[in-house]
Amino acid sequence: MRLVLLGPPGAGKGTQAAAVKDRLGIAHISTGDMLRGAIAAGTPLGRKAKQIVDGGNLVPDDVITEMVRERLGAPDVKRGFLLDGYPRNLEQAKSLDSILDGMGQKLDLVVSLKLSDAEIVSRLSGRRTCDGCGLPFHITSAPPKYSGICDYCGNTLSQRADDREEVILRRLAVYAAQTAPLGAFYRDKGILAEIDATGGILQVQERIIAALAGGR
Ligand code: AMP
Repeated sequence: MRLVLLGPPGAGKGTQAAAVKDRLGIAHISTGDMLRGAIAAGTPLGRKAKQIVDGGNLVPDDVITEMVRERLGAPDVKRGFLLDGYPRNLEQAKSLDSILDGMGQKLDLVVSLKLSDAEIVSRLSGRRTCDGCGLPFHITSAPPKYSGICDYCGNTLSQRADDREEVILRRLAVYAAQTAPLGAFYRDKGILAEIDATGGILQVQERIIAALAGGR
C-alpha cells in the first residue's frame, strides 16, 4: 500500500505511522525524522536545514523532494510506504505525483488527521522525547516515573527546539496556509480519508485501520 499521512503538527502522525508501518509491513518515511537525523549528524543538508526547522518554517521544496525521490527508490519501499510529513504543500504534492508516475505507481489513500489548535498546543508543548531510544513522553498525559528521565533506558528526555510555544504557533500558521489545502487536492482525487485524531492513541489507530480497510 502507498499511503500519505497528513495532519497538523501534534496530531500524532509519528505515533500512528509507526503502528501502521508495523501492521502493513511497509516503509515509514518521515521527512521530519530525516531532517532531524541530518541536523544531528551535521551533514551539509543538516547545516542548511537547522535554522529553518528550528524556526518552524519549511525547508525548500527542491531540497526535500530530492530527499524523498532518493528514499522512494530504496529497496525497502518496494512493498509500499507511508509518507509522514511529505507532501507539505501543493508544489510537493505535484512533485510526488510525478515521482510516482515515473515509477508507474500511484497513491492508494491519504489519511488526514484532524485536531483543534488548542489540543495541538497542549500536546506539543508537553511533548518530550528520549535522547537515547527516541521514545515519546508527555509531561501530563504520559509522564515518565522520574521527571526528565526515560522509563525504559534511563537517558535524558528533551523537548524538540520546534516544540516551544512560539514556534508551535508558527508551525500551525504554516500548516494552515500551505498544508491544509492538500485536503481538497486529495479529496478531488477521491483518495482522502479524514480521521478524528482526538482521544487515545489506540482509538485513533482503530479509526485509521477502518479507513485503510475501505470504510472511509
Ligand atoms: P515534522 O517532524 O514533520 O513536524 O517536521 C519538522 C520540521 O521539518 C518542519 O517544521 C519543517 O521545518 C521540516 N520539514 C519536514 N517535512 C518537510 C517538508 N515536506 N517540506 C519542508 N519542510 C519539512
